[in-house]
Amino acid sequence: MFELKGRVAIVTGGNGGIGLGMARGLASAGARIVIAARDAGKSRAAVQELAGRGAEAHAVATDVTDEGAVGRLIAATIERFGRLDVLVNNAGMNIRKPAHELALDEWRRVLDTNLTSAFLCSKAAYPAFKAAGRGKIINIGSMMSIFGASFAPVYSASKGGIVQLTKSTAVAWARDNVQVNAVLPGWIDTELTRNARREVPGLNDNVLRRTPAGRWGDIDDMAGVAVFLASAASDFVTGAIIPVDGGYSIQG
Ligand code: NDP
Repeated sequence: MFELKGRVAIVTGGNGGIGLGMARGLASAGARIVIAARDAGKSRAAVQELAGRGAEAHAVATDVTDEGAVGRLIAATIERFGRLDVLVNNAGMNIRKPAHELALDEWRRVLDTNLTSAFLCSKAAYPAFKAAGRGKIINIGSMMSIFGASFAPVYSASKGGIVQLTKSTAVAWARDNVQVNAVLPGWIDTELTRNARREVPGLNDNVLRRTPAGRWGDIDDMAGVAVFLASAASDFVTGAIIPVDGGYSIQG
């Protein structure tokens, strides 16, 4: 049910953090992985790491905010592997400023990277899914898809948008046997949150206090949900919004 042998998965931002954790999970279930990110050195290292675990992996240097580059990513994947089964829209960033300090170009940069990218990649992948008669899209939201924070107006707007994009594409493509779901990670230890810990006083203690599991998530905590949502196990699951957060979102 969870077998992904022969399947091909694109993971945007798969060269580190949550994307790499998901790529490891998909690879361990047998999938071939395409890493789509900008930093060629980091992507090379991720491909080597996955290969070391016995997976077939390939990197395509991609800026997911660029529609032309996204089109080339899909074409390169199909040229290399002959198919596309899974798309993980994971690439993301944050600029931590309250709305009254945020410049318009910063607003656009975060929305383009976190939300428009998911639209572009999903739209570009859809023809391959439709032709194959099946497909899986996994969008990465955040606790900020649910909650607000003074320092995250654009990040939370982008992640709220991810939830609604997920629901609308899930409805639109359900008859094509394309399932679209969103994962909302809690606080996971990555480069992104290491920066946040530096910039937001008290964050580390707040996360530990507020998370029922009493710890930060590890990138490998994201592997299982990726396998579930990429495999036949989730063929009747679509438009679902799944927190993977050690209980953060259900704590009163
Ligand atoms: P990282 O900073 O470790 O990873 C971000 C990834 O996105 C990198 O691989 C980066 O690669 C890629 N990326 C950024 N911009 C672009 C772009 N324009 N084109 C292509 N790739 C891009 O962060 P995380 O692993 O923490 O975050 C991954 C996702 O998870 C994000 O969407 C984030 O919002 C979300 N998230 C993270 C949480 C956490 O606690 N860590 C909690 C909730 C959600 P490169 O620089 O090489 O392009």
